[in-house]
Amino acid sequence: MSFEVTILGASSATPTSTRNVSAQLVHLLGRFFLFDCGEGTQIQLRRFGVKMQKINYICISHLHGDHYLGLMGLLSTMSLLNRKKELLIFAPKGLESILNLHLKLSYSVLSFPINFIEFNTSKMKKIFEDDVFELFSFGLRHRIPCWGFKLLEKQRPRHVLKDMIEKHKIPYSAIHAIKSGKNYTTECGQLLRNESLTSKPYKPRSYAYCSDTMPFDNLIDFIFDVDVLYHDATFHSNLSEKAKSTFHSTAKQAGIVASKANVKKLILGHFSSRYKNLDILKQDAKSEFENVDIAKEGETWKLQKTYD
Ligand SMILES: [Zn+2]
Ligand SMILES: [Zn+2]
Repeated sequence: MSFEVTILGASSATPTSTRNVSAQLVHLLGRFFLFDCGEGTQIQLRRFGVKMQKINYICISHLHGDHYLGLMGLLSTMSLLNRKKELLIFAPKGLESILNLHLKLSYSVLSFPINFIEFNTSKMKKIFEDDVFELFSFGLRHRIPCWGFKLLEKQRPRHVLKDMIEKHKIPYSAIHAIKSGKNYTTECGQLLRNESLTSKPYKPRSYAYCSDTMPFDNLIDFIFDVDVLYHDATFHSNLSEKAKSTFHSTAKQAGIVASKANVKKLILGHFSSRYKNLDILKQDAKSEFENVDIAKEGETWKLQKTYD
């Protein structure tokens, strides 16, 4: 019942000798999402033992190079490995043209189909769903059009209590209805209330990814109450003017956003290469919000299950 985030890169603008540019893998119940795909992402996937063909969905936040320049290489390798499965790419307008031009000029044809879905609003919008998740995009505030993403798990069915099923010899054919909340009447007419046959499912978990943004009021509504928030923390608050002029956030501002949005955990990322020791950014955010982690490449955060 996994919902986990693995950081593949958290450096802003340029890679350093110890940090790669933006990319992360999110795994939710057998679905694999790649949020951004900076240069070198396919190497990071290899380094951390992720099978790249498992990726079903790629979400590109914006067309600054540190967020998408690894895409052509990744798609090319997927094709060389003879991928057949369709790949969904959610991206700003223009990325499809860039990739198509590249393929055309290199006389290349990918071994698999890509379904491009372009963002067409800065409002909160559901861009995809299946039976276990909903994926939303929302506009961020950056130098060029840029989007954040929210991945929301759907409510799980009630958990059937095995010992009660055995005790009352309930047939397998009745389980589906019981999971969906129905009562059950035994052959001898005894009514068994659903609450006695099942336990409550855990609360749906949620994750938000805010790659490059300066703070703005609507952001709080977009990400309110998520379990885990990944947020731009390019600078320390002693460089707040630089953060403002480049449309980024300070770690302290990320802490303020996390606090106002009532999230449970904040992961700071997109660090300027000037910071060798990231602890000062952690302390900067901690002045506003307690539960802060620094995005470290190869580390995985598991979203915990909670019950009402
Ligand atoms: Zn960036
Ligand atoms: Zn950017």
